[in-house]
Amino acid sequence: MSTKHDKIIIAIDGFSSCGKSTFAKAIAARLGYIFIDTGAMYRAVTLYALEHGAIHSGIVDEDAVVRLLKEIQITFRFNPERGASDIYVNGDRVEGKIRTIEVSNCVSAVSAIGEVREMLVRMQQEMGRRKGVVMDGRDIGTVVFPDAELKIFMTADPKVRAQRRYDELTAKGDNVSLEEIEQNVRDRDYQDMHRAISPLRQAEDAIVLDNSHMTVEEQMTWVMERIEALQQA
Ligand code: C5P
Repeated sequence: MSTKHDKIIIAIDGFSSCGKSTFAKAIAARLGYIFIDTGAMYRAVTLYALEHGAIHSGIVDEDAVVRLLKEIQITFRFNPERGASDIYVNGDRVEGKIRTIEVSNCVSAVSAIGEVREMLVRMQQEMGRRKGVVMDGRDIGTVVFPDAELKIFMTADPKVRAQRRYDELTAKGDNVSLEEIEQNVRDRDYQDMHRAISPLRQAEDAIVLDNSHMTVEEQMTWVMERIEALQQA
């Protein structure tokens, strides 16, 4: 049983571009919890691999990525302007560079490498040791925190998801096509669900949130009701 004062772990998993991070960030702000975007960690390793010759023409050299892991130090620092933590690799802020289509096209292959997952899962478990975290990813409720008090599995129509990601990237000035984004969303879903290690799947005790036609505010009402019910149980 948990009371209002006990901090819990909220695990949010689901498909690409479902708005998991936006949702997780809003919950963390409401509860005064720490928000951790684990996708950013896999993206940061992918960016480093791209910049250090471990990926050529979209082909990931797994041994080269594993060799690079020794020299990758990932840290987070809170950025009050964003109301969330920015990710740093070896002291360089890479937040603005990890969401490009180039990184998106290689990240699922990099995150299928066992050694990459081992390193990042260990870090994530350490970050959640004192609870009071909202963590989003693909394997949070199944592998990173199988005992999380609240597990949410997010999904939305792939076309709605592609449109959201397209709007986000074009607002930043990126020159991308909607077809290319939709293809990337569908490819990543497939790769994430079919990889050998920690594939994306719904934990048995996760509750499903299909937010295809929901605003962030509606999602917040939905989740706060569940958190309150948990605390009164
Ligand atoms: O959440 P986001 O879409 O930024 O994640 C990028 C990619 O990182 C995913 O498509 C997936 O391949 C990988 N990932 C993962 N496990 C996590 C978080 C992300 O494999 N916990």
